[in-house]
Amino acid sequence: MSTKDTITLDGIPQQAQGQGFFLTSLDELVGMGRKNSLWPLPFATSCCGIEFMATMASHYDLAQFGSERMSFSPRQADMLMVMGTIAKKMGPILRQVYTQMAEPKWVIAVGACATSGGIFDSYSVLQGIDKILPVDVYVPGCPPRPEQILEGIDKLRELVHNEPLRRRNSPEYQQLLKSYGIDIK
Ligand code: SF4
Repeated sequence: MSTKDTITLDGIPQQAQGQGFFLTSLDELVGMGRKNSLWPLPFATSCCGIEFMATMASHYDLAQFGSERMSFSPRQADMLMVMGTIAKKMGPILRQVYTQMAEPKWVIAVGACATSGGIFDSYSVLQGIDKILPVDVYVPGCPPRPEQILEGIDKLRELVHNEPLRRRNSPEYQQLLKSYGIDIK
């Protein structure tokens, strides 16, 4: 007898039918909650930070995604937004902020400087924050308009929504952190 023959499928229970019921998976439910409550930690060092301020203000209204609550404590932030030129001397501080954030956490590199060093092809400037920590979404532009920042956040929300709950414990994720020399607690 094959395994297929021994499995019987149950229908939807009587009490979970009709209006007002909504069946989903745990992954989906948690993903929905997470994507609608991403608290940003703005690590803004220069001009791109001004565009972020516009993104937060009433016209672009980041609150529409439940992200109006900025966190200047890494312990209570979900989404690290790096905006501006990052000098190599700032690298260890940025990494420390990242490592102090609790899992699950995500990173957006906003603008050309955070993404690749931008116009500052210089000995003193980090040529992209992905040299020191993993980045989830890159927003191009010098500076990017608030619409672009919103689009970057929307892409990240899509990633967050579809991320499996077990991803953070997976060997692939641990390997990714190890490749950056980040301690896994
Ligand atoms: S990408 Fe352009 S606008 Fe943004 S911080 Fe760098 S120089 Fe300034």
